[in-house]
Amino acid sequence: MKRTTDLALPHIIVIGGGFGGLTFCRKFPDGLARITLIDRQNHHLFQPLLYQVATAGLSAVDIAQPIRAILADKPNFQSLMADVCGVDLQNRRLQLCGGLATHEIHDELTYDYLVLAVGGVTSYFGNDDWAKLAPGLKSLDDALKIRRQILLAFERAEIETDEAKRKELMTIVVVGGGPTGVELAGTFSELSRTVLVRDFDRIDPRAARVILIEGTRRVLATFPPDLSESAERQLKKLGVETRAGARVQAIRPGEVELSDGEVIRAANIIWSAGVAASPLTRKLGVEVDRAGRVKVEPDLSLPGFPNVFAIGDMVTLTDKNGVVVPGVSPAAMQMGKHAAKIIAHEIKEQIRPGGVAREAFAYRDKGSMATIGRSKAVAQIGRLHFSGYPAWLAWLFVHLVFLVGFRSKLSVFLQWTYSYLTYRRGARIITGAHGAPPANSA
Ligand SMILES: Cc1cc2nc3c(=O)[nH]c(=O)nc-3n(C[C@H](O)[C@H](O)[C@H](O)COP(=O)(O)OP(=O)(O)OC[C@H]3O[C@@H](n4cnc5c(N)ncnc54)[C@H](O)[C@@H]3O)c2cc1C
Repeated sequence: MKRTTDLALPHIIVIGGGFGGLTFCRKFPDGLARITLIDRQNHHLFQPLLYQVATAGLSAVDIAQPIRAILADKPNFQSLMADVCGVDLQNRRLQLCGGLATHEIHDELTYDYLVLAVGGVTSYFGNDDWAKLAPGLKSLDDALKIRRQILLAFERAEIETDEAKRKELMTIVVVGGGPTGVELAGTFSELSRTVLVRDFDRIDPRAARVILIEGTRRVLATFPPDLSESAERQLKKLGVETRAGARVQAIRPGEVELSDGEVIRAANIIWSAGVAASPLTRKLGVEVDRAGRVKVEPDLSLPGFPNVFAIGDMVTLTDKNGVVVPGVSPAAMQMGKHAAKIIAHEIKEQIRPGGVAREAFAYRDKGSMATIGRSKAVAQIGRLHFSGYPAWLAWLFVHLVFLVGFRSKLSVFLQWTYSYLTYRRGARIITGAHGAPPANSA
């Protein structure tokens, strides 16, 4: 049913319905302003579980929810699916890409406050031609593409008669040993050894090689060294070969060349080595760092524009306690909440944007965790370090609690229980494969 909107209220436009933008909308008190949320996707995506879709553990619908459904009950709220190409900060107007918007909608896109929450993109550190050979994991489309590629490679291996080619099809290289790379490598190895092993007759999926390449000296470099060592041991138990301290020199169809000269033949190469801010940040005309992240004021506003806030992965900030705010979902959510509090206060008290001193943002670190496979994970909560089963249980709990929507929580819980008890993963259907070669085949 159509929602009524009080056009007399101040207008807040939020660009991006990810962790930061969605939290802003949820936390902003009803009745003070009308909010327009613009996202190029129609859904909010729970990115921490993307690797589960890529590795056939969960279906796409389990980790995404339509934005309209999540905020269906919010008054004075509208959601638009559109791609924002630019922002005219001086004149407070947005430019939409691709002719998606009519003139009438353009006229609506002026704001009193703007909240930018456009997140990041996969970065190939200037080697953009690697993108088609080594897909990254950032969206549902990426996850489904990776899943299709890996499952298709095993199907092709089953009918391949040439031994060298078969080995190549059954080799998966994951570039980047951060949490996502570790999760992917561990789960691919587990997938081939415990799940696919029952599916095939002519090949032995246990012979699949999963190689994790990390440029720094240890995997999970942002975690304490003892947890990195534990992660490496747990990966080894799962059969993953790790190459820490090895940099990728080149990626060519069907192979990866490392800085020490080693060439690994692999039909499946996945990139999880870098992120950069959304390209939109470079069009704002404000200062950005090398990764394109916007340098914000301590209150999260853009320098010179007290009515514009930037939050989440698109931002670089050292907070008021001297902590470099990491690009993780809790930071984006805390920033969303902080911006909502400031804007709500100013509107309520009828203060012009930035008319009173604002509170500086402070990041509260509630810990970090990375899962590696069934009953395998590492976690750091304050000074406590956990590994193995307890860390894995904590990981399961946290990810279920923060997953948006009751239906998703229930569905994911049931699928995880099923996978745990049966060693099976339900989402192994290949779609869209007709005539498609594995993306990286020679
Ligand atoms: C594979 C993966 C695993 C991760 N695992 C974890 C984890 O385990 N724990 C953790 O804390 N963090 C994890 N993260 C990081 C976490 O997801 C991010 O820190 C978080 O999503 C940042 O929130 P955000 O709101 O800044 O951006 P996002 O959540 O990325 O949201 C940005 C939104 O903006 C939209 N958008 C972008 N550009 C435009 C445009 N021009 N016009 C309109 N809309 C636009 C996008 O469609 C998107 O919906 C992971 C990230 C990835 C990719």
